[in-house]
Amino acid sequence: MQIQPVLKKFALLNQYPSLIHAFSTRKGGVSDPPFHYLNLGLSTADDPERVKANRRLFFEALNIKEDRLVFPQQVHSANIQIVKKAGVVAECDALITDTPNLFLTVQTADCFPVFVYDPQNKVTAVIHSGWRGTAQNIVGKTIRAMRETFRCAPQNILVGIGPGVQKSCYQIDEKTAQYFDKQFLSPDGPGHFKLDLLEAIVLQLTEQGVLLEHIERDATCTHCATDEYFSYRRDGNYSGRMMGVIGMVK
Ligand SMILES: [Zn+2]
Repeated sequence: MQIQPVLKKFALLNQYPSLIHAFSTRKGGVSDPPFHYLNLGLSTADDPERVKANRRLFFEALNIKEDRLVFPQQVHSANIQIVKKAGVVAECDALITDTPNLFLTVQTADCFPVFVYDPQNKVTAVIHSGWRGTAQNIVGKTIRAMRETFRCAPQNILVGIGPGVQKSCYQIDEKTAQYFDKQFLSPDGPGHFKLDLLEAIVLQLTEQGVLLEHIERDATCTHCATDEYFSYRRDGNYSGRMMGVIGMVK
């Protein structure tokens, strides 16, 4: 078994030596099935000691000290916090900082992790955007908060959208569909639709002035990529969590 975590990065963000970012896969790590192998979610039924060991492997691979991490207590909200110090942030699904050596994290298993960087003003953000957050435009609101608080110019902002559940695997009911514009919905049998959450997120970015060529997507479907990603929709309570992290070094 391979212990060393397999991590992924965005080419768009990887060109900046002072920026550290990555998102995890389920490869590497020490958890047993069904959480095999790199489960980074403590709120799962996995052995917490295994999860802690996985987190150590993940952050060591990135050369990040664990006392420099920020963990949002994700609640599928549109709550955004500007942070200056490490620790746990209550009820929050987006974090923004201009503080160097502070690393923002997000946990997902089908919801989209969104990584944001303004290389001009040296500001980073991370967003957890599932259907509830997307319905409340959490991505657009985060970009707006970066503009208002840090004077970030949208045309400078770079975005990486990590893996999430793709439209082909994302059936929703009528009640959920009412929150989304028709252009993101396809009929899928009586009272049901397929939802293109990824494209809805892209539109929330471009509406705020982020350039399309500054948006990189990992369009892998978490639900389909059984060996590569955890998927809550596929595995329910037997699903582990991936983690994303972004921050600037001084
Ligand atoms: Zn799929």
